[in-house]
Amino acid sequence: MNGPLHGPARAVFLEPSRKIAYLKDVSDSISPTEACLSGRCPRCGEGRIFASWLQFRAACPACGLDLSRHDNGDGPAYLTICVVGGLITVLAALVEIRFAPPYWLHRLLWLPLVILGSVVILHYAKAWLLAASFRHHRLEEDPS
Ligand SMILES: [Zn+2]
Repeated sequence: MNGPLHGPARAVFLEPSRKIAYLKDVSDSISPTEACLSGRCPRCGEGRIFASWLQFRAACPACGLDLSRHDNGDGPAYLTICVVGGLITVLAALVEIRFAPPYWLHRLLWLPLVILGSVVILHYAKAWLLAASFRHHRLEEDPS
């Protein structure tokens, strides 16, 4: 993470044996989008990464990838706020312009949608960021 290159581009500076292993590992892994939508491990594509809807397992049950070492910080929450907040704001504005309902109806309609949408989107945002992080920072994660 210190150099200007990340992910597969960093393989250029590896010794030949590690370069081959690294590039094979990258080509065998699934894309962050596939990992996100399926909820599967970004390295093997087999093991489920979630122990519950929003909590990762400690490790992939199929390949043993240590998921506890990945830290996405506030990334999933930021993505969720952008997606859900933007979508609900546009929908609320359209409903207000078209129907002009009373304020209590806005609250009754949008509050549950914000809560439900946030929980759903947060799950996928966490999975996608974990997979993207794994793909682009894997050299620092696995020094073997
Ligand atoms: Zn795995």
